[in-house]
Amino acid sequence: MIEKIVIANRGEIALRVLRACQALGIRTVAVHSTVDRNLKHVAMADESVCIGPAAPKDSYLNVPALIAAAEVTDAQAIHPGYGFLSENADFAERVEESGFIFIGPKPETIRLMGDKVSAITAMREAGVPCVPGSGAPLGDDAVENARIAKEIGYPVIIKAAGGGGGRGMRVVHTEMALMNAVAMTRAEAASAFSNDQVYLEKYLENPRHIEIQVLADTHGNAIHLGERDCSMQRRHQKVIEESPAPGLSPKQRAEIGEVCVAACKRIGYRGAGTFEFLYERGRFYFIEMNTRIQVEHPVTELVTGVDLVTEQIRIASGEKLRYEQSDIVMRGHAIECRINAEDPNTFTPSPGTVTRYHPPGGPGIRMDTHLYDGYKVPPNYDAMIAKLISHGPDRATAIARMRVALSELVIDGVKTNIPLQQQNMLDQMFQVGGFNIHYLERRLAEARKG
Ligand code: ADP
Repeated sequence: MIEKIVIANRGEIALRVLRACQALGIRTVAVHSTVDRNLKHVAMADESVCIGPAAPKDSYLNVPALIAAAEVTDAQAIHPGYGFLSENADFAERVEESGFIFIGPKPETIRLMGDKVSAITAMREAGVPCVPGSGAPLGDDAVENARIAKEIGYPVIIKAAGGGGGRGMRVVHTEMALMNAVAMTRAEAASAFSNDQVYLEKYLENPRHIEIQVLADTHGNAIHLGERDCSMQRRHQKVIEESPAPGLSPKQRAEIGEVCVAACKRIGYRGAGTFEFLYERGRFYFIEMNTRIQVEHPVTELVTGVDLVTEQIRIASGEKLRYEQSDIVMRGHAIECRINAEDPNTFTPSPGTVTRYHPPGGPGIRMDTHLYDGYKVPPNYDAMIAKLISHGPDRATAIARMRVALSELVIDGVKTNIPLQQQNMLDQMFQVGGFNIHYLERRLAEARKG
């Protein structure tokens, strides 16, 4: 087993990784920026290293500082969490070249999946169903592009191969608009992602977002841990996640899960990962793979009983998977509400000091957060400050427990989206389940109109 880990992240995920390390008896090194020296996990870690000023590029994205932190503390491995450098193949490569273990997939896997065109090609070859599309980067021949789009059928979506975070996408409804849309997406992609490759796929009009969690070890074993439904979104960002996905049958789950497991084995996947799909009229369409632990991993942990972060560390230590597919049984239903420090109406970030914090409790309630009384939410990072997760024998109970927990949760001093999440729990359509990725945005637009 690895003996000492550098946690190359901040906030709730750094604390989550630290807790897993402590339970495994692994020593921890917290790294932090100058504004983050009072983070909870920094106080709890065995050692801590300041890696630079507040700006992410100078600290949490500062590769030489992170490698130096591992060197000076004699650590063996680096856990990247999510965001920041977690899906940066060059970073993973630098970590390994410097003699440390990267807790994640091989750098070449991260690179393959980081380019959406190469990811789709690899997945198609592995038998994973993909959105009908160009399957290759588009060239500059307008006639040829129009032929491809016509064959797929409008509406289509032009996407940047290097895109991420919901950016670099453009929906096109007519042939007339195509040429201009390709040129504009290409220009944006070149400046935002330093990669001007764009591709085209069918625009699905009312899909749900359903993703499959996988674990794969270095001995050729892989399993899936069922699905998460992340259709509650705003600006292509997830707001609520749940597991299982309402209405998905055990047969559908087993089928798509097996496809993902086979793909993992084929590409030699290592660690925890997620296959993201759009789901429409009973069919799955692969859109991308996330080669890291995800924000929403707790819902899977609550329904399967598997500690995903612990398993990441065991796999990185070279251990064989401790579970076979038949060991994975989904029990009950879990829901996660992301709690952001932001105005619940305008969504503008609301940094500041948390003057009062009372977490909720009771059966089936889990609160993943680094908050405490007096904690200062810095303006430099993501607005997510907590994740409230509920679990119950069925979906209705999970919703009821979440509703009570949200009413019990007190975070004073900064604005939060707690009121929005309370509305969501009372929403008729949410209670029924099975809504598509546009539902929340449309409801918010209606509410604005009054
Ligand atoms: P990113 O890497 O930026 O998150 P994704 O490829 O995962 O981009 O897509 C993000 C979101 O964009 C999806 O969850 C969905 O809401 C929308 N989207 C992407 N591709 C399509 C498509 N072919 N049809 C409809 N919506 C899409």
